[in-house]
Amino acid sequence: MTDLHRLSIRELAEGLAQAQFSSRELTAHYLKRIEKIDTQVNSYITVTAEQALAQADAADAAIKAGTASTLTGVPIAHKDIFCTQGIKTSAGSKMLDNFISPYDATVVAKGKAAGLVTLGKVNMDEFAMGSTSENPFYGATKNPWNLEHVPGGSSGGSAAVVAADLAPFSTGTDTGGSIRQPASFCGLTGLKPTYGRVSRFGMIAYASSMDQGGPMARSAEDCAYLMNVMAGHDAKDSTSVEKDVDDYVANLNATAVKGLRIGIPKQYFNVAGLDAEVKARVEESLKKLEDMGAVLVEIDLNMTEAYVPTYYLIAPAEASSNLSRFDGVRYGYRCENPTDILDLYKRSRSEGFGAEVQRRILIGTYALSAGYYDAYYVKAQKVRRLIQQDFLKAFEQVDVIAAPSAPTTAYKIGANLSPTEMYLGDIYTLAVNLAGLPAINAPVGFDQAQLPVGLQLIGNYWSESQLLSVVHQYQQVTDWHTKRAAIAEENA
Ligand code: GLN
Repeated sequence: MTDLHRLSIRELAEGLAQAQFSSRELTAHYLKRIEKIDTQVNSYITVTAEQALAQADAADAAIKAGTASTLTGVPIAHKDIFCTQGIKTSAGSKMLDNFISPYDATVVAKGKAAGLVTLGKVNMDEFAMGSTSENPFYGATKNPWNLEHVPGGSSGGSAAVVAADLAPFSTGTDTGGSIRQPASFCGLTGLKPTYGRVSRFGMIAYASSMDQGGPMARSAEDCAYLMNVMAGHDAKDSTSVEKDVDDYVANLNATAVKGLRIGIPKQYFNVAGLDAEVKARVEESLKKLEDMGAVLVEIDLNMTEAYVPTYYLIAPAEASSNLSRFDGVRYGYRCENPTDILDLYKRSRSEGFGAEVQRRILIGTYALSAGYYDAYYVKAQKVRRLIQQDFLKAFEQVDVIAAPSAPTTAYKIGANLSPTEMYLGDIYTLAVNLAGLPAINAPVGFDQAQLPVGLQLIGNYWSESQLLSVVHQYQQVTDWHTKRAAIAEENA
């Protein structure tokens, strides 16, 4: 079969279970595509071909023996922020280019236990800090819809592999939009779960109070299959929550769209940088949901202006603390011929970290330093609470909140936005992480340049099933999620 990459996750699972094709055949098919097509996309940092084929053989044996589970034999790509035992885990940084993890992240371990076949590890913004995946060390990943544009970030590789059909689905992480924005830029569905729903164990830390892993795929249904694998309490992550997980696949039609109250925040649709075509596509999708029976309710989210400054204080503060462990001593990059310990620290960190990571460490260290801590960090924490309360108040009135995922479609590679311009592009995603809420991106059309536009739906805590269900039903009556970039149509 030459078009295995066109099948949905459910079709792949069924095809494997019914022996229409083997996992080895499917895995080899993807590896061939990667070899041919990824020279243009630059999405994989590491392709684990040998291990993947061995896992595929084991999956085929399990299927034959009748011991397989739903997804046994289905391939996946992991963001290179998830530790993988015996395989390089770089977090997109020169600092960790030589780091072979001695253990698996819980998300990776759960994937293995579910029988998933790991194709490899994919590119990202360095340490997940950024929105373009223009990686200073591994190079820029390209947007499959237009190779001159970025796929978004930080989970840009995770988005590009799916959009180019170089993996059927992938893992991403979202600290301030890194699943939703690349999903939006690449025409995919991506879910950022409630903080604490997915284990952070073995996920290299950026801003620990906001980091959360989640699925990226073409459809809500595909995402639901991966959520069934990823979600759950983990004793190894003290912030993961002991709460039963839903069966996200079984719940795909469980939420009634008829009567669903969708909040439209006044402030969100008057943001200065909101592109007119993005606004139009998002409004069309809301009209569609209205046709399906949803009720649109205008709401106020008064803290909108505080999102960017609050996030860009708290996230760098946590990053400066988390990244202090990379000192050239225990693991990671070490400078050559250090003259003394201070020189070792200084040069290992200046040579090992890229410019954006260094900028954030400096900002964060400043915000946490004696004398400034109260004025910046403590104040930002107080504003963070107000932002959360703003959402809780809104959820007394509505079931979900709608917004664009990003104010624009994908930027051009090398657009070289200033840091503040770049940070403003995160306006629609940051508050969700500050509040710890779940949110999903769904593709809802294209701009004139044929670049995808995304709708974001934000839910109350633990409403992942509801978000997936609403998007799934939207996808039953629309076909944006089935559109494929030309490069995905290429055969290997
Ligand atoms: N673009 C945001 C940042 O640079 C979000 C990144 C993320 O979610 N990891 O911090």
